[in-house]
Order: sequence, then C-alpha cells, then structure tokens
Amino acid sequence: MSQTADIVICGAGITGVAAAHFLSKAGAGKILLVDERPPLSFTSDRSTECYRNWWPDPEMLALMNRSIDLMEAFADASGNVFRMNRRGYLYVTADESSAADLERESFRTSSLGAGLRRVHSSESSSYQPAHPEGFHDSPDGADLLLGNDLIRKHFPYLTERAVAALHVRRAGWLSAQQLGMYLLETARSRGVWFESGRVTGVDLASGCVTGVRLSSGERLDSPIFVNAAGPYLKDVGKLLGVDLPVHTELHLKAAIKDPLGVVGRDAPLLIWTDPQSLPWEEAERAALAEDDEMRWLTESFPSGVHTRPEGAGESQTILMLWEYQTKVMEPVWPPKLDEQYPEVALRGLAAMLPRMREYFSRMPRPQLDGGYYTKTRENRPLVGPARVDGAYVIGAVSGYGIMSACGVGELLAAHVTGAELPSYANSFALERYDDPEYQRSLENWGDKGQL
Ligand SMILES: Cc1cc2nc3c(=O)[nH]c(=O)nc-3n(C[C@H](O)[C@H](O)[C@H](O)COP(=O)(O)OP(=O)(O)OC[C@H]3O[C@@H](n4cnc5c(N)ncnc54)[C@H](O)[C@@H]3O)c2cc1C
Repeated sequence: MSQTADIVICGAGITGVAAAHFLSKAGAGKILLVDERPPLSFTSDRSTECYRNWWPDPEMLALMNRSIDLMEAFADASGNVFRMNRRGYLYVTADESSAADLERESFRTSSLGAGLRRVHSSESSSYQPAHPEGFHDSPDGADLLLGNDLIRKHFPYLTERAVAALHVRRAGWLSAQQLGMYLLETARSRGVWFESGRVTGVDLASGCVTGVRLSSGERLDSPIFVNAAGPYLKDVGKLLGVDLPVHTELHLKAAIKDPLGVVGRDAPLLIWTDPQSLPWEEAERAALAEDDEMRWLTESFPSGVHTRPEGAGESQTILMLWEYQTKVMEPVWPPKLDEQYPEVALRGLAAMLPRMREYFSRMPRPQLDGGYYTKTRENRPLVGPARVDGAYVIGAVSGYGIMSACGVGELLAAHVTGAELPSYANSFALERYDDPEYQRSLENWGDKGQL
C-alpha cells in the first residue's frame, strides 16, 4: 500500500530540514522528509559551523542578512540552544597593498548593506572587542584595525608582521547540529515525519509530479517533490530528467589540541589573507625540492588559511582549514583524505600565529575529516521550481549551507506556497540561467567572497 503526502523532501541535511521547518510553518500540508542516512549526518555534520553577513555579492548579502535575522530569532526563542556567538571573522594581512585592498573592498561591502565600516588607527580608538558568547549588544558592520600595535593589543597571539585586520562583526559560529535539531523538532511538532530510505524514482503524469519511489520498493503518492539531496543534487535531478548546473568539490578540515594556547580561546575566526610559501628548515626544503612528489610543498600557496577555537570550558581544540588545492570530483563516500593536510594547514597558520612553530617538531595528533561543497558556477544557491510541475530544488549551498539554511528554507517555502517572494528570489532560481544576459555575466564573474 502506498503512503500519501502533500510534499516529499528528499534529503534531511540542514537544507531539507530547514525547508521542512518553513513549509510546515506555512501550513503546507502533510510533509515527509526522506533520507537514506540519519538526519543531519552527512555534509551538515562536517562544517566549521561559521556564519557571516559579509558578502561582496549584494544578493548573497541580502540572503545572509535575512538568514541571520531568522537564526537570531530562533536563538532567542530557544534560549540559544545552538550557542550562536558573534565573535566575528578577522581577516589579517602583513602586506601594505593588501591592507589598501581590505580598506577599499570593506568600504564597498559595507555600502551594499553589511553595516557600517569603522576605521581605527590609534590605541585610543573606540574599537569594541567581541563578547565570547551570545550575540546581543554587539556591533554589526566591520572594524578595520590599522597598525601592528593596535592589532596586537586586541589579538596578542597574531604576528608582529600584521599591518591590517578587518573584523567583520555580524559573524561567528554556532552548533550546526543543534540548529538543525531545533528546526527538525519544531517541524516534527507540526506534523512533519521522517522516513529512512533512498529515493530512486520520481513518477510523473502529463509532466507533473505524482509520486516518489524508494529503493525498498515503496511508493509515496505526492504532487510535490523537493530535491534537497546535497552532493547528490545532480543525481536526484536526473530522476526528473533535469540536468542541474552543479558540481562538487571535496573540502577537508582538521582538528588538533592546542595545549600551548597558541590560538586565544576567545578568538574570532582568524583568516590569513596573504599568499605564502610554507616555512621549512633549509635542509628540509632542499630535500623536498629534490623529490618530484613532494616539491609542491616548497612552492607558493594561496591565501585563506583559517582557524578558530572549538568547544567551551576546558576545551583545547582548534579547527584548521585551507583550500590550497581545489578538488572538483564526483562525491565518493567516504572521501579519500589527504594525510598531509593537517601539517600543511598548521605550517600555513604559522604565518599568522608564529607560536604554531612550536608544534612543528611534535604536532598534536590531528583528527581529519571532510565533505563536499555542492556549487553552481557562480557559487549562488539553487532555490525554487525545478522545470517540472510540482518539482522544486533547494541546494548548491557550497561552503555556506549552515549560515544560509534558514534563508533558503524560507525562500523555498515561499515558492511552494505562492507567498510573496523576496527581492533576491530570481537571483537564486534555476530560471536565471535562461537569461542570455545572465549567462554572459557569468563569463567575468570572479570570486565573490567564498572561503
Ligand atoms: C569542510 C567543510 C566546512 C564547512 N564550513 C561551513 C561553515 O563554516 N559555514 C557554513 O554555513 N557551511 C559550511 N560548510 C557547508 C555546509 O556544511 C553545507 O553547505 C551544508 O551542510 C549542505 O547541506 P545540505 O542539506 O544541502 O546537504 P547534506 O547535509 O549533504 O544533506 C543531503 C542529504 O541528502 C541525502 N540524500 C542524497 N540523495 C538521496 C537519495 N537519493 N535518497 C535519500 N536521501 C538522499 C543524503 O543522505 C544527505 O543526508 C562546510 C562544508 C565542509 C565540507
């Protein structure tokens, strides 16, 4: 016997769960979440759990401002069960010309709606340090700190070479698992139910969705199907005969203990914005340079290595991330992990945090994991109708799926229920690619602020 639902959502990662939350809030009927894995256990369990409203793309900025508004409201309503903080992101450079870029670009992002940008160059400045916990009574916008004395007054663990640091304030981190559970539990309390299974087919009649098939052989009658399959967005799109313009990239993350306290326990997310070469002893460098397979370790590395403290109380854990090699690939599970990653990230972080060198000869045992970013070419998400009557897509949330979940969930619910759409809706709909002008704009899109 087949079950009947008004909406079937394929995928119970943070995106599918957020969609279920907002659809049930809108009273969209009987909603079923289907996943072959337990809820929130795939990509959504691998993230750094950070958020920011600081985006040079105005459409992304508007989406993130909305998503953060929603997260803050949920944090208030729940007694902040997901421990949302507002420590910010700190972008640091030792290069005077990059400092000028930070100054110019931060002015532009601020003027797009990210909040005021304040410049501080003397120790008597009105710069307000972040509270380590919670998110109330914190400024938004960003503070640009110029000069090493001022930077190290507030962040003493940073290098004496730092000349500028941009502290983005409507930013920080939270527990993605707890946020996801909050969204799932509230959805469940409104009647959403979860079923374990793999979606293997979507039935159509006269071009409209009529039901969903599972690998168990079960069939679910439903006029609406939502593809929230994360890294498998493209595969699930094919079940509808729709080729979604997305690809996947493997991204890693390493955690180590920091018993020396190299990273302040109250630190924001710390990001080094300068390219570099890794620090090696001369003999090490010479040996690596001679080895064809290891020579790359002596060559130049990109900007962007970042870290943050993880955990409260006595925790000594820090997270380390650095995309020094982009790996576009089909999602394979479990992913093949690059065992050199933790040491490379640690050495890269020494440019910003000189005491990391004290771990070079005895590196704390790392925990390494990773997951897939699912991305469109221009790194905007896909949210809205999926070219077949009754079919919708929500995903391609790349490295920002936790912070955007509430915003994209709300947007998807507005598409499905016919509610008024926000100004950014068209920028994230699949139909945007039908516009030749939009297609042309993709040629020169560039990087719009993805970590
Ligand atoms: C290393 C790393 C760091 C990150 N850091 C951040 C960060 O700091 N901030 C941030 O906002 N984001 C971050 N992200 C990104 C974020 O984790 C993802 O964007 C987000 O988790 C994607 O959620 P999702 O629900 O789309 O996908 P997923 O969590 O992967 O969920 C998709 C679900 O669909 C299910 N599924 C797929 N196909 C089927 C099928 N046929 N039948 C049934 N079920 C199916 C899967 O089992 C899975 O559970 C990071 C990601 C990585 C890898």
